[in-house]
Amino acid sequence: MALRQLVRARPLLARPAIAPRSAFLAPRLSASFTSTPKRLDVPPQAYQIPPSEGPIPPKNQKPKPSFSARASKFAKTFGRVTLVVLLTATGAFIYVTQSQNSPPDQLPVDTKKPTLVVLGSGWGATSFLKSLDTEEFNVVVISPRNYFLFTPLLPSVTVGTLEPRSIIQPTRYITRHKKRKVDVYEAEAQEVDPVKKTVTFQDLSDVRGAAGSVTIPYDYLVYAVGCENQTFGIKGVNEHACFLKELSDADKIRTKLLDCIETAAFRDQPQDEVDRLMHMVVVGGGPTGVEYAGELHDFLIDDLKKWYPEVAERLRITLIEALPNVLPAFSKQLIQYTESTFAENKIDVLTRTMVKDVKESAVVVQDANKQIREIPYGLLVWATGNTSREITRDLMSKLSSVQTQRRGLLVDDYLNLLGAEGVYAVGDCTATSYAPTAQVASQQGIYLAGIFQKLGQKAKFERQLSELRATAAAPEEIEATVKKLNRAAKLTPFHYSHQGSLAYIGSEKAIADLPLFNGNVASGGGAAMLFWRSAYVSTLYSVRNRTLVLADWLKVKIFGR
Ligand code: FAD
Ligand code: MG
Repeated sequence: MALRQLVRARPLLARPAIAPRSAFLAPRLSASFTSTPKRLDVPPQAYQIPPSEGPIPPKNQKPKPSFSARASKFAKTFGRVTLVVLLTATGAFIYVTQSQNSPPDQLPVDTKKPTLVVLGSGWGATSFLKSLDTEEFNVVVISPRNYFLFTPLLPSVTVGTLEPRSIIQPTRYITRHKKRKVDVYEAEAQEVDPVKKTVTFQDLSDVRGAAGSVTIPYDYLVYAVGCENQTFGIKGVNEHACFLKELSDADKIRTKLLDCIETAAFRDQPQDEVDRLMHMVVVGGGPTGVEYAGELHDFLIDDLKKWYPEVAERLRITLIEALPNVLPAFSKQLIQYTESTFAENKIDVLTRTMVKDVKESAVVVQDANKQIREIPYGLLVWATGNTSREITRDLMSKLSSVQTQRRGLLVDDYLNLLGAEGVYAVGDCTATSYAPTAQVASQQGIYLAGIFQKLGQKAKFERQLSELRATAAAPEEIEATVKKLNRAAKLTPFHYSHQGSLAYIGSEKAIADLPLFNGNVASGGGAAMLFWRSAYVSTLYSVRNRTLVLADWLKVKIFGR
């Protein structure tokens, strides 16, 4: 009864929009809370504005809300939208990370399916594994490293811009999310026999059990062992220089760099010794050497000057390159830009300079005028490119009639290793017309996963076909399966699509050579550096990696290295 009356009374309440609060609150309250219906019969005049309250606005015209009212309404809406976005993003983040963290059950190994052995856990092998449908294969992964390493960001680890764990992804994490169980062995493959179709491998890590070396057969082999560091047989490189290829290398550089600085700051250190210790020499003007020099410069400017003021000014960085310029793969203007940025940053670039010998505390070089001289150093970083691993050279010698390139393994357009049936090779270990880059290796890995998808389909349709024939199925059904089989057997050759070249050169600047609009766009500077960062963050393998890398960059901004 009271409710119905309240509804009836509504038009009255609604009409005087700007009635003073007290004027219309009173009857509304009384309407809802008092049980006496009498009060609802208040005459309409009771809701009108008393003349003393100011001019009455014309009928039907809504008064304009004040600025502060609008601002507070906007703030409220904005707050609500932000809250909803934040809650959704947090929910999605928790969902993705938790579902990635709790892998589902997997199909068991099926002895009727072919065995696919993958050697390596780098760019080629990992992109292959990530895209591979494991349903039709029993997969075995063998690599001395049980994680994938995001090499493009490795130079940042050497000076503490990034933490080591931020740029690695455990291989088991990738394989545990596959349909069928994948065996992962932390071991080094020592021999591939392409005739018997076997792989021999052994645990060569610090902790070894009693298992010794193991030989297993394969039906298919994906060979992605990468390369080792090229030293050109120069004496002393292995003993005295630091490489920059593995995570342990970055760690070693970081430790040695700080040791050099502390030793230089040691009491009563002779001045020429301080100069030697504070001289960081990088050999190799490719992207790795250039990026390392850039990171080192940032470390000097951002941190060293603050914490080691007594020796910071003595730090010198020298980049040695045998060719006439650094970064030969980049366009001319970007090479000039890099060289001028390095000049501004007081990084000495010695081009046309060849290292002849590496001693414990000096490198012997021959400069452009054929003059031989010694350059004392505290830390020497060696980044001069790749050479084939021993296992690869051994495999080449076994297939010497067709494997005639010293540079690496020869493959056909479908990445089949020449001379070896069922073996595919990807990445740096191959000798193709492509540069040895992560971009090439990962595209090859993805392409190869597609080839294995088709191999799996082919095997499935072949099985179906023989079943259909055995049960004398209808000819149309057999024909349809034959068609599917033919489609699965049709392969397209590998095609590389270049996404551009990027390199960080220090002082928040990067260079980018991007293929755009049928041409090439070269860009250098702060915008390129933002592009460099976003490109790498988006290509990192997991949400975990992306979160950690972003957090590291933020940490460095706030707390330093
Ligand atoms: P790798 O990634 O080297 O992987 C080889 C794998 O094989 C490793 O897991 C290794 O442990 C394993 N292995 C070794 N020996 C054996 C064995 N006997 N048995 C089994 N497994 C074995 N490229 C770019 O495109 N952009 C960049 O910005 C870029 N920056 C780089 C920065 C640095 C510091 C470095 C070192 C390289 C950079 N590269 C970059 C190049 C890129 O990392 C390589 O081209 C890429 O790693 C090649 O992939 P891969 O799979 O052939 O070899
Ligand atoms: Mg071990």
